[in-house]
Amino acid sequence: MKLISVVWLLGAVNVSVRADRNRSVTFEGFKVLRVNVDQRVADLESTFETLSVIDLNRNHGHGVDATIDVAVPPEHVKIFENLNFTTTILSEDLGADIAAEGPLGRYPELDENNLPKLSWFDSYHAYEDHIRYWADLQGSFTNNSELIQVGLSFEGRPIQGIHLWGDSGKGSKPAVFFNGNVHAREWITSMVVEYLLYQIVTGYNNDTAVQAALDNYDFYVLPIVNPDGFVYTQTDYRLWRKNRQTRDNTTEVGTDINRNWSVGFGGDGSSSNPGSETFSGYQPGDAPETAALMAFAQALAADKGIKLYIDWHSYAQVILLSYGYTCDEFPSNIDRQISLAGETAARIARPYNTSFDYGPGCLVLYQSSGNGRDYMTDAAGTEFGWGIELRSTSYGFLLPADQILPSGVEIWEGMKYLWVNM
Ligand SMILES: [Zn+2]
Repeated sequence: MKLISVVWLLGAVNVSVRADRNRSVTFEGFKVLRVNVDQRVADLESTFETLSVIDLNRNHGHGVDATIDVAVPPEHVKIFENLNFTTTILSEDLGADIAAEGPLGRYPELDENNLPKLSWFDSYHAYEDHIRYWADLQGSFTNNSELIQVGLSFEGRPIQGIHLWGDSGKGSKPAVFFNGNVHAREWITSMVVEYLLYQIVTGYNNDTAVQAALDNYDFYVLPIVNPDGFVYTQTDYRLWRKNRQTRDNTTEVGTDINRNWSVGFGGDGSSSNPGSETFSGYQPGDAPETAALMAFAQALAADKGIKLYIDWHSYAQVILLSYGYTCDEFPSNIDRQISLAGETAARIARPYNTSFDYGPGCLVLYQSSGNGRDYMTDAAGTEFGWGIELRSTSYGFLLPADQILPSGVEIWEGMKYLWVNM
């Protein structure tokens, strides 16, 4: 815990230039704390409304003491301290951490194969540039891929990505289905998913592991399934999590897309309160993004089936298996899943010693009902319905840009193993 604090503080003081992203909320002076909630979850949750405290991340896996990471606005730090929670300081100034992420990058030059150069992964990018990036990747791999769109977001943006296939032709193999950036503020997820795409596109003709993967599976990759929320994190509020859906009879905005799936809907680890970060919606699939993803999953399931689903998140560094909605039941192939996840985590650790935990989500992280991986497991016949929480337990959501490429490199090692051995 001490080490974590030091890393956060270093991240905060290493700032010389402020990012210029024209945000209306700068989070200047917000303190980030890891709160040991003990039996006082309700006490802490009440501060989300009374003190504008922001609910960032939770961890009570492995029976350890439950912790919740929160951001406390400067004007309420004193009052919060007087509540006498047991806390560890993760950051003295969230605004400085946002600056340390670096400014949004320029679109890179194209290489001799008309692919954007790897410098894409040196910075985070505007939403429009992500769309262009997917088109450029697909444009360099036209015989084995096409751009796809599975539906529209609440504000009408297309939910889009790339379908890639191997030598048996389009749509001939079971699916590998990836969803990135379901949570808007988890910027590293779309970058890592794009790194995987880049490696597939550039490796298919010269890397036997990539050939094996793409010849055995059709890949359906949607790097940003919550485009409205993602855009909002870039224009207004860096730490936005949910979609941007409005509802009747409330001024609260946003449904947690990852609590809106039908399996386990409305159970513990989700909220019926529209103001909550884990608001489930009122009915399964009443968020248009979830509805589109469920329909697409059903189409894949009815066609060649889904072998592997990964919902990409940050920042717990853990491979989450089903289930999230219950801690007492497990998929019938759980032993095989645990063994595969364990070796995948070992491969991820090889390049930089980054440690990833693994196991059923309810046991290793926290209970979450109505999530995507449980839906894939129980309602779409998916053999491996996973979520992967990327870096970083040290920096939280605001992962410095110089960690984008290493995140991609280590996950690529894990995926190459998984795809060939699953
Ligand atoms: Zn998430």
